[in-house]
Amino acid sequence: MTTRQALLALAIALGLAGAARVPPAWADGAQRTASAISAAVDAEAPAAVDLLERLTTQNSGSFNRTGVEAVGRMLEAELKALGFRTRWVPMDAIGRAPHLVAERDGGHGQRLLLIGHMDTVFEPFHPFRKFTRNGDSATGPGVNDMKGGLVVMLSALKALRAAGALDEARITVFITSDEEAPGEPVEQSRRELVEIAKRSDATLCFESGISRDGRDYASIGRRGFTGWRVASEGRPGHSGGIFSAQQGDGAAFELSRVLSRFHDELREPNLTYNVGLMLGGANIKLEDAGIGSVAGKANIVPAEAQAIGDLRALTPAQVERVRQRMREIVAASLPGTTSTISFEGAEYPPMEPTPRNAALLARYSEASVAMGLPQVLTLDPLLRGAGDSAFVSPYVATITGLGAVGQGAHAAGESVDLTRLPVQARRAAMLIRMLSR
Ligand SMILES: [Zn+2]
Repeated sequence: MTTRQALLALAIALGLAGAARVPPAWADGAQRTASAISAAVDAEAPAAVDLLERLTTQNSGSFNRTGVEAVGRMLEAELKALGFRTRWVPMDAIGRAPHLVAERDGGHGQRLLLIGHMDTVFEPFHPFRKFTRNGDSATGPGVNDMKGGLVVMLSALKALRAAGALDEARITVFITSDEEAPGEPVEQSRRELVEIAKRSDATLCFESGISRDGRDYASIGRRGFTGWRVASEGRPGHSGGIFSAQQGDGAAFELSRVLSRFHDELREPNLTYNVGLMLGGANIKLEDAGIGSVAGKANIVPAEAQAIGDLRALTPAQVERVRQRMREIVAASLPGTTSTISFEGAEYPPMEPTPRNAALLARYSEASVAMGLPQVLTLDPLLRGAGDSAFVSPYVATITGLGAVGQGAHAAGESVDLTRLPVQARRAAMLIRMLSR
């Protein structure tokens, strides 16, 4: 009996319990569910760490297709044991391991999409291989991004089953195989994910949770990125004639003009842009890998100049607005020169912070409080890189950051706080419960 139930029993015995003092039946039910979830998460906690060790010890660098699939099979076994029907989405055509999809439909409440990824940035040749436990923390490739998050998701589902709250839920789990290096074109590698998002009511993404100064955060938005290239051309000739009507200003000054105006004129909140490489002279050769060569002399007006860079923005509208400003700046060429800009290279859409995402995060925070845990706050979108949640957010309320809490994603020594796995699992389970009613 909880303290509250005990007090209520006492109040009834003393004849003090007026109608207004009796908690509504649902409150009692919610209390029972919360207690059952907590007890189940705690009971499952040691097995969760074992599972994290098994998932981490199996290398699953994005290009290690057999390794990624092996991690997928471990997850498939766990999900089948929870009564999910599973299937694989083949990706051979674009050189990636298959995605794993698991579904169950109890016919109640919102249609939930739970997403995560099973690949990591650590390919088999990387020296950072082992899972090591040091007291309350563990290190290993992908423990934080995001094998810990997969464990949180499974712990939440197991707790819901133990609390008798899984059967009625309508859940699709979608685990991508290539989040760290999406198969191109992304229209193909994300097609099935987007289709499921379109018929879902809420997406919960189990990438890393963030904790700072004792406060917990999740995300309703994150920036996307796109690459760009400016190519300038001028008339080659002797340096003594530069700035004359006949010679013009040369490609190097023209490219400098463009970049200088980018630097001064494009600044706005939530936007960054960088020049990663620039070349000027003649016979420029630039490979996709970012290796270039150029010829030039101090006394020759250069015929060509090129720069490549990236652009990171928070909304599709912002991306398009900045691209348009860049085109206008590029078009205003110096005498005797021309420049063009193209948007190319790797591209990831932004996840726009929408009101429906904010409303979902408010429910998550409410679920946290219902579990006796602190509120969950909204993370500054600049503090989270691009990810799969951006592909689904245009179609469905989406939040991310429900996963493990740790440090150093993508770097050797990446770690996870094991004491936070059960905390995150409790919150996620209660949110799923609330949305499934
Ligand atoms: Zn990730």
